[in-house]
Amino acid sequence: MSPMIMATLTVFARLVSSQCAHTKLLRLMGRQPLFVGCDVGLVYGRSAMACMCTDHSYDYDFLVIGGGSGGLAAAKEAVGLGAKVAVLDYVTPSPVGTTWGLGGTCVNVGCIPKKLMHQAALLGEAIHEAATFGWQLNPKSVKIDWEALRTAVQNHVKSVNWVTRVELRTKKIEYFNALAHFKDAHTVVGITKKGEEKILTAKNILIAVGGRPKYPDIPGAIEYGISSDDIFSLERAPGKTLIIGAGYIGLECAGFLNGLGYDTTIIIRSVVLRGFDRQMATHIVEEMQQRGVKFNYESKLKKVSKQEDDRLLVDWIDKDGQIHQDVYDTVLFAIGRQSLTQELKPENIGLKLVPETGKIDAVNEQTNVPNIYAVGDVLYKKPELTPVAIQAGKLLARRLYGNSIEQMDYINVATTVFTPLEYGCVGLSEEAAIALHGEQEIEIFHAYYKPTEFFIPQKNVDRCYVKVIALRNGNETVLGMHFVGPNAGEVIQGFATAIKCGLTIPKLKSTVGIHPTVAEEFTRINITKRSGLDPKPQSCCS
Ligand code: FAD
Repeated sequence: MSPMIMATLTVFARLVSSQCAHTKLLRLMGRQPLFVGCDVGLVYGRSAMACMCTDHSYDYDFLVIGGGSGGLAAAKEAVGLGAKVAVLDYVTPSPVGTTWGLGGTCVNVGCIPKKLMHQAALLGEAIHEAATFGWQLNPKSVKIDWEALRTAVQNHVKSVNWVTRVELRTKKIEYFNALAHFKDAHTVVGITKKGEEKILTAKNILIAVGGRPKYPDIPGAIEYGISSDDIFSLERAPGKTLIIGAGYIGLECAGFLNGLGYDTTIIIRSVVLRGFDRQMATHIVEEMQQRGVKFNYESKLKKVSKQEDDRLLVDWIDKDGQIHQDVYDTVLFAIGRQSLTQELKPENIGLKLVPETGKIDAVNEQTNVPNIYAVGDVLYKKPELTPVAIQAGKLLARRLYGNSIEQMDYINVATTVFTPLEYGCVGLSEEAAIALHGEQEIEIFHAYYKPTEFFIPQKNVDRCYVKVIALRNGNETVLGMHFVGPNAGEVIQGFATAIKCGLTIPKLKSTVGIHPTVAEEFTRINITKRSGLDPKPQSCCS
């Protein structure tokens, strides 16, 4: 048999063995199937071979509730594999009335506007440094125009909303701007803005509804407070701002507001950056304090009220029970997020939620209702990050419609906190590594370093720090990598792949660095905490 015929037969065999082989074959032939999203059954049409679903009693093969990172990724993947897909997305206005378009949290009120405002703050810093490099400007006259920044950010967000809608139309994914709830396990009711009901049925349903910011149960919080849902589109400049909560969202907001020149204070009830490495969290906070962000520890907000001049009077209580008062222009709550699962009427289908959290404890993204799946921020004890939602959504669609068996791997997911001095990490924190393996079984390498670009403007290098946590014995497998410094996300991304590939300390040390970069500091690492040696840098290039 000729190699050409062999290759053709192999491709054909692969196609027919797959769930929607006939659909794929048609697409390969450049034709559209008459019916898509099939399980079994092959029908020969007039001019083209087409497949028909056994379950054509349903409107859709795959109905996605939530047009955010996870839902859209799953929908696009499923339609590409031949499924008939619809997406319902609806944004309930925030307490102060902020609303937004298609695309979910990340695009509208999360990663994207946040990164843009962080960039605006970094540029302000760069302008001040530029003078030391010889640029002839007067940094003292530089100030932010909030309206211009907000407009630029919102224009970008709206362009992404538009591209997303066009993409759904092009890919023939039906989109409904409607708030969904379950009628039964195969039927979803969508309520539009005008109050019209849309009843949609599907064989499989995906819950990808994400979450929204929580508000504390104290007087004035809902009336006068805002959250990350509002800050990126705030009509007026935020002015003097109080942020409640020191998770990554609270710290990032405080970081860019302070960088933009607004007086910023954070109130923290317990720990900063819960779940992250403690030492790294301390570095970040100290750096922020040095840059002017004020931190009120072990304090609890009691009341927010509006003064006659429209400014907000805030009462809080410290750890000794002492009441404090101050006046702010903006009070921003960043005390955590709640899942939007109650609104789905889970009781109508017997969907189990984890008490208190409202989250779904799915097994391989499948809920306790067999045809109902979940991805993204609604999942219990999974990283609440966009790439995690996207990857889980894509892999689920491939398993449902593409004959794949690949499961989502939630371990060693890298992330970055976009504070003024950024923090990127992947793998275990020092505390988690000790808890899992025992102090004697792990080795911690660490180093302070001086980024070359910090020398001329004489920027503070006290908290430029890297840490590598590894097993002490065997191959010395790397368990965690932590980086505080410029461009932390860019630095840590590559090392995350290395960890996936089983990075070991000898391999890391044998990697030749790129000089002069900040990422090379990982390859130069050789001082262990156990040795007690000084991790401060001796010189830049030895
Ligand atoms: P979402 O993106 O939230 O999408 C859910 C969608 O479903 C929303 O549009 C919602 O309105 C809609 N919906 C809810 N209920 C219904 C219903 N009943 N009917 C119809 N529609 C419904 N992640 C990162 O990876 N990097 C970052 O830098 C980052 N920064 C962030 C900064 C901030 C300020 C915030 C808040 C989040 C950030 N995240 C970041 C997290 C990231 O945004 C989320 O992990 C991600 O958006 C989760 O995707 P999802 O698909 O689960 O939900």
